[in-house]
Amino acid sequence: LIKLDSKKEAEIPKLDNSKPIMYSSLTSVFKELEEESGRLKNIACTCEFFHQVLEYTDADQIDLKIRDLTMVTYLMANRLGPDYVPGLELGLGETMLLKALSQSTGRELAHLRKEYHNEGDIGVVALKSRSKQRVMFKPKRLTLLEVWKELNEIAKSEGTNSQSKKISIINRLLTACEGTEAKFLMRTLEGKLRINFGEKSIIVALSKAIIEWQMKQKKKKITPEMIVQAEEQYKEAYSQVPNHEILIKIAMKKDILNLVDNTGLSPGVPLKPMLAKPTKSITEIFDTLEGKRFTCEYKYDGERAQIHISEDGQMHVYSRNSENMTEKYPDLIPVVDELKKENSSIKTLILDCECVAWDNETNKILPFQVLSTRKRKDVQEKDIKVRVCIFAFDILYYNGESLIQKPLAERRIYMYNNLKEIKGKFAFATKMDTDEVDKITKFLDQSVHDSCEGLMIKTLDGKDSYYEPSKRSRNWLKLKKDYLEGVGDSLDLVVIGGYIGKGKRTGWYGGFLLASYNQDTGDYETVCKIGTGFTEEQLQKLHEILKPTEISKAKPSYIYDSTNSAASPDVWFEPTTLFEVKVADLTTSPVYKCGITYFGEGEKGISLRFPRLIQLRNDKSPEDATSSDQIVEMYSSQANLQ
Ligand code: ATP
Repeated sequence: LIKLDSKKEAEIPKLDNSKPIMYSSLTSVFKELEEESGRLKNIACTCEFFHQVLEYTDADQIDLKIRDLTMVTYLMANRLGPDYVPGLELGLGETMLLKALSQSTGRELAHLRKEYHNEGDIGVVALKSRSKQRVMFKPKRLTLLEVWKELNEIAKSEGTNSQSKKISIINRLLTACEGTEAKFLMRTLEGKLRINFGEKSIIVALSKAIIEWQMKQKKKKITPEMIVQAEEQYKEAYSQVPNHEILIKIAMKKDILNLVDNTGLSPGVPLKPMLAKPTKSITEIFDTLEGKRFTCEYKYDGERAQIHISEDGQMHVYSRNSENMTEKYPDLIPVVDELKKENSSIKTLILDCECVAWDNETNKILPFQVLSTRKRKDVQEKDIKVRVCIFAFDILYYNGESLIQKPLAERRIYMYNNLKEIKGKFAFATKMDTDEVDKITKFLDQSVHDSCEGLMIKTLDGKDSYYEPSKRSRNWLKLKKDYLEGVGDSLDLVVIGGYIGKGKRTGWYGGFLLASYNQDTGDYETVCKIGTGFTEEQLQKLHEILKPTEISKAKPSYIYDSTNSAASPDVWFEPTTLFEVKVADLTTSPVYKCGITYFGEGEKGISLRFPRLIQLRNDKSPEDATSSDQIVEMYSSQANLQ
C-alpha cells in the first residue's frame, strides 16, 4: 500500500461553483498526469480533483456528487462504465476519427492521415489541426456532463446510419473544444488516453478522497490507518463488484470503511477471477502447502468462463477479464436450460469454469487453437462448427447466497449436489484428492494425455481455501507439464523500447527492451532485451503495432540504466504492448533493474536469460504484466532449489 505524502499537493485549477463542471477542468488534470512527475504526485493530483468534485455541489446533494464522481472516475479510466456492460465501448477506428476531424477543421483527409501516421497520436493531430483553424464565432464551452452524454450516445449508436451520426456528434464536440480539450477528446474516443494512470492508481486516489470527505462530514479526525483501510476495502469490494457507480454510491451513502460488508456478489455482475501461482515441481507444491490438505484438478486449456444465472432467469458468460461473452456462446443457453431442468430449484448461480473445444465424435478435448477459431461476435447457433464443453471447477454463488467464504471442500459438495453433468456439454473438472507423489505424477501425465495443460493444485479446508477474487493466491498452484524444466511459468512483459533493425531486419525493429511492472511504485523496471525467435512476418506486424506508440524520450516511470547501451534502446514506446516470453532461467545483472526496490539501491536487478517470444498478450493491460515482486519470488525459489 502506498503512503501518500500530503505535501505533494497538486496544482490544478479550482472548480468554479457558479457554473457547471467544465470538460476543461478534467482535461487540465489529464495534462498534469501526462506531463507526469511520478506516480505519487499523480495520485495526489487526481485525489485533489476528486475532492473538488465532491465539494462542488451543496452538502445535501449527495446524488449529484455520486453522479459527478462516477463520471470523472470512468473518464479517467477511459471507459463509460464497467467492461461487462455492453454498448459502452469506445475505441473508435482511425478512419472515422480522421473523417470527423476533417469535417470539423476543413482539412483534407489525406493530409490528416499522413500527419496521423507521422505523429502516431490522434490527439496531437487534433490539437495541431484545431490550433490552425479560425472560427467565425466562439461556441459555448463544453461541460463535463455534456461530453459524457455525447460519448455515451456515440458508444450506443449502431445500425445503418450510426457512422454518420457518430461523426456528426464528434464534429459538434470538436468545434466547441479549446486548448488541449480536442487532444484528450480524440484520444478518449480512440480508447488511448495515454495519461499513464491505470485502474489501480485511480482506486488509490478515489478511496482516499472518499474517506477524507466522509470524515470531514462526520467532523472526525482522519488517521493514516483509515486511508489504508479505505483503499483495502475499495479494492476488495471492486474485485467482487467491478462497478464504480455501485461502489461509489454505497461508499458515500453508507461507509467506505465497511464497503465489503455492504456489497457482495450479485449474479449478472462478474467478479474478478481468482488466479494461481506457478510451481515447477511436485516438491515445490509440498513445500508451499506445508501439510495442508489439497486437491489436484486437470488444468483445462480453453477459455475461462464465469457462468451466471440472474434472478430474471437470464444466463451470462464472462471472460477472465470480465467481458461479456454471452453473445459468443449462444450454444450454452440450452446447456444452462438443461441444468435448470434437472434441478428446478436453481434460481441464481455463479459458476467458475473453463470452456473447452470438444470433439463430439471422439468425445475428446480439442486444443485451444481450435477454440480460438470461434467467432466472437454475431454468432448464430446454426453456424457454429466448433462445439464446446464446459468444465466447472467452482461454485461461487447459489440461490441468493455467496459461497466464496466457504472452504473449497464444502463448495464442491454444493456443486456436485446441485448440478448434474451433461455428456459432452457440461462436466465437473476431473480431480484427485491425494498427497502421494507417485499418484500426483501419474495424474499429471494423465492430464496431458487427456489434452490438458497440467494440474491445478488447490487447498481444500478452512480459510486458506476460500475463493479469493482477483488474487494470484498461494492456495491455488498451477503445475504445467512443460514447466518441469526451466523457469516455472512464462512471463508477460511490457515492451518499452526498440532497437533499430539491421541487415534483413532493416525498416523494422530488430529487438525490444522489456520491463516488468512494479505494483508498489507504478514503475516499469527493465528486465531483458529480446531479439531472437521472431519471424519476418512477426517483426513486420510488431513494427505496425509499435511504431504509432513511439515517444521521444523514456517516461519517468521507466527504470533503466542510461549508461549502458544494451539497456538504452534506440526508440522508446508508450507502455501498451505485452509479450509473453519463456526463459531458461533468471539471473542478477548490474544492467537491468527489475526488483531493485526489493534488493535495495545500488544492488543488482534481475534479468532473464535466453528469453523467447511465445505470443502477444492482447488480453492484458500493462498493469497486469508480471510484477517485479513475482519475478523476485521466482528468482528466490530458483535460488533455493540450486
Ligand atoms: P495461464 O496462461 O496459465 O492461463 P493466467 O494468468 O491466464 O495464466 P492462471 O491463474 O495463471 O491464469 O492459470 C489459471 C487459469 O487456468 C484459469 O484462468 C483458467 O482459465 C484455467 N483453468 C483450467 N482448468 C482450471 C481449473 N481446474 N481450476 C482453475 N483454473 C483452471
